[in-house]
Amino acid sequence: MLGGFQQIYTNSRFQKAVKVAILDRGNTGTHKLEDIALEVGIKPKDVLRVLADLRAKAQITYRFNSNTGEIILGEKVNYAPATEFVAPPKKLDAPLPTEGKSYCVYCGNKIGENAQFCSFCGSKL
Ligand SMILES: [Zn+2]
Repeated sequence: MLGGFQQIYTNSRFQKAVKVAILDRGNTGTHKLEDIALEVGIKPKDVLRVLADLRAKAQITYRFNSNTGEIILGEKVNYAPATEFVAPPKKLDAPLPTEGKSYCVYCGNKIGENAQFCSFCGSKL
């Protein structure tokens, strides 16, 4: 299958190109994100996404310095989430008070005011 609507950071062609650019640098040293973006031919923002994806797959190690716009290759990040990572909302341990509310706190669908269970997702309210 060619093309399609695959997101750029999971697109294997871009992944390969970014990986080659990293390997060309010996997976070491400090490099401008812009340079890598120019080389690969995609936006710096997208390079970051591809990099984050490759890092998530443990194929490369790097740290992004958002102050200087530099990629520091070969440096392990022990804890930091990727730059653009947005944590998913934590699952609630207990439902929020629903008294007087007519929306399920779990799925957001409209429900009867005195319903004990959401008729859409089945959560106990
Ligand atoms: Zn629900």
